[in-house]
Amino acid sequence: MEIPPIIPAPPMPPLLFATTNMDKVREVALLLGPGWPLRTLRDLPPIPEPEETGVTFMENAILKARAYATASGAMAVAEDSGLVIDALGGAPGVQSARYPGATYPEKFEHLYRALRAHPRPWTARYVCAVAVAAPDVLYTTEGVCEGEIALEPRGTHGFGYDPIFYCPEYGRTFGEVADAEKLAVAHRGRA
Ligand code: IMP
Repeated sequence: MEIPPIIPAPPMPPLLFATTNMDKVREVALLLGPGWPLRTLRDLPPIPEPEETGVTFMENAILKARAYATASGAMAVAEDSGLVIDALGGAPGVQSARYPGATYPEKFEHLYRALRAHPRPWTARYVCAVAVAAPDVLYTTEGVCEGEIALEPRGTHGFGYDPIFYCPEYGRTFGEVADAEKLAVAHRGRA
C-alpha cells in the first residue's frame, strides 16, 4: 500500500492580541507558550481605539475584538479586565485603568480612603472577559479570581492592582508571588 506523503501543517498564523498593554501581552505569552506567536496592536499601523462604552467587561471585550477584527482584517482577540471591590459597589470595575490617580500608588491611596469606612474583609475579585472575533465568528469566555483587598500594598511583582490584591490560596498578595503562581490561579489564566 502506498503511504501518502505527510503534508506538514502550515505554520500557525500569528494571533492578533488587540492590546497595547504590554503587561497583558507578557502574561498571555507566558500562558500560551512558544507555539503561539502573538501579534499586538504595536505591530500594526495605528488603528483608532474604539471607545469602551460597555457597562460590563464582556461588552467591552466584544466591542474591542469586533472593532480590531474589522479594522485589521484578521481574527482578533481582545480582553477587558479589572478589579471589582464589593464594598465599593463593584468599583473600580470597568474603570480600573481609568480610576482616579496618575500612578498605581495614588490609585491605591484613593481606594483605601474609600474602603476605610467599610468593615473588613474587603472582598474583591479580578475579572477577565475575552472575546475572539472575525467577520463571521464570535467566541467569548470569562475568568474570575476571588480574593480580598490587603490591609496595605505589598510586593513588586505583577502589575496594576496586584500589590493590593490578597490571594487567600497563597496567603500573599499577587505583588508577592511569582508570575507562574499568579497565572495558575488568576483571572487571565482561567479565561
Ligand atoms: P482594560 O485595558 O480596560 O482592560 O483595563 C484593565 C485594567 O485592569 C488594567 O490597566 C489594570 O488596572 C487592571 N487589571 C486587569 N488585570 C489585572 C491584573 O492581572 N493585575 C493588576 N491589575 C489588573
